[in-house]
Amino acid sequence: MEALASFKREISSPKKIFITTHVKPDADALGSSLGMANYLTKKGHEVTVVTPTDYPSFLNWMKGNDEVLDFSNPDHTQAATNSLEDADIIICLDFSCLSRVNELGEMIRKSDAYIVNIDHHQDPEDFADFRVWSTEAAATCEQVYELIVALGDEKLLDKDIAECLYAGIMTDTGGFRHPNTTKNVHLVVAELLDLGADTSQIANWIYDSNSVNRLKFIGFAISRRLVVHEDLHMAYFAISKKDLKKYQSRTGDTEGLVNYALSLDGIKLAALFSEREDGIKISFRSSSEVAVNKFAAKYFDGGGHKNASGGKSNLSLKETVELFETLVKDHQDEIFQADPVTAN
Ligand code: 5GP
Ligand code: MN
Repeated sequence: MEALASFKREISSPKKIFITTHVKPDADALGSSLGMANYLTKKGHEVTVVTPTDYPSFLNWMKGNDEVLDFSNPDHTQAATNSLEDADIIICLDFSCLSRVNELGEMIRKSDAYIVNIDHHQDPEDFADFRVWSTEAAATCEQVYELIVALGDEKLLDKDIAECLYAGIMTDTGGFRHPNTTKNVHLVVAELLDLGADTSQIANWIYDSNSVNRLKFIGFAISRRLVVHEDLHMAYFAISKKDLKKYQSRTGDTEGLVNYALSLDGIKLAALFSEREDGIKISFRSSSEVAVNKFAAKYFDGGGHKNASGGKSNLSLKETVELFETLVKDHQDEIFQADPVTAN
């Protein structure tokens, strides 16, 4: 493949490489970034990983975590800016719209560096010199593994890289439960196991590291903030700033909450509205017959995967929820028409 050969040439001599991923990185975002960073460092490059925002502490075990710069942290902004400006190569992972990295997006667009984009979300923006993109991939970590192999560098893979990549595959497949859990996912994971990835330890770090506050928050949300419309096959949580403060919520504490709404029998569309400093952040999840990414893109300035998407709103929490309820009531046919056979 022409493009792969061009990327291979780019990394054939030591370069300054800037790696970034989407806001509020999840395990796939951070795992693919640090997996790639550890690989490229072993290859002799000078690599900096910059996240647009902070991320949950249950990801802090990944190798290279201590050197990650958080662009939104005033103590890191200058160093992160310098590394972007000095970069020969910029690698964008687990996102394909530059708006997903806040201010970094325009800086990347203006850069003269060689730009790489590796991603599995719908509707990619065309900003890269070399792109690995497929909505068939379950996780960007799966794509990074395959890219390293395609580059002929399988021998550089090790336990640390395998653990970063496993984390993203495990979480983006919902613990190997979502329809994106293909044969290929299992084949890649088998290779990661061979490299020594401690999969039960990783599950423990990611899924079993709750604080008491977080568990109480989940209990509170389920008992007091869950709204169910069985007739509309829809359920949602609306969490206010005050709720988050009361439970001393930290980054990552709302992660997974929306799945409880979708877990209800008969519910096909679930949402989580959380009131943040910069507006309402929305998470959508759906069963196979609802393409929630289209709904998020059309009405809430968002996008994502067919059954797991996000968006935002500048209305109040109450107004946002009212708008959502109205939209779901008025657009039943549009929402519940997706072909379950089409890919994520
Ligand atoms: P989450 O609900 O876990 O934050 O996000 C679910 C999925 O939707 C992820 O794949 C994420 O990248 C995508 N997503 C979340 N928020 C947004 C958004 O505001 N815009 C777009 N385009 N995608 C989003
Ligand atoms: Mn992902």
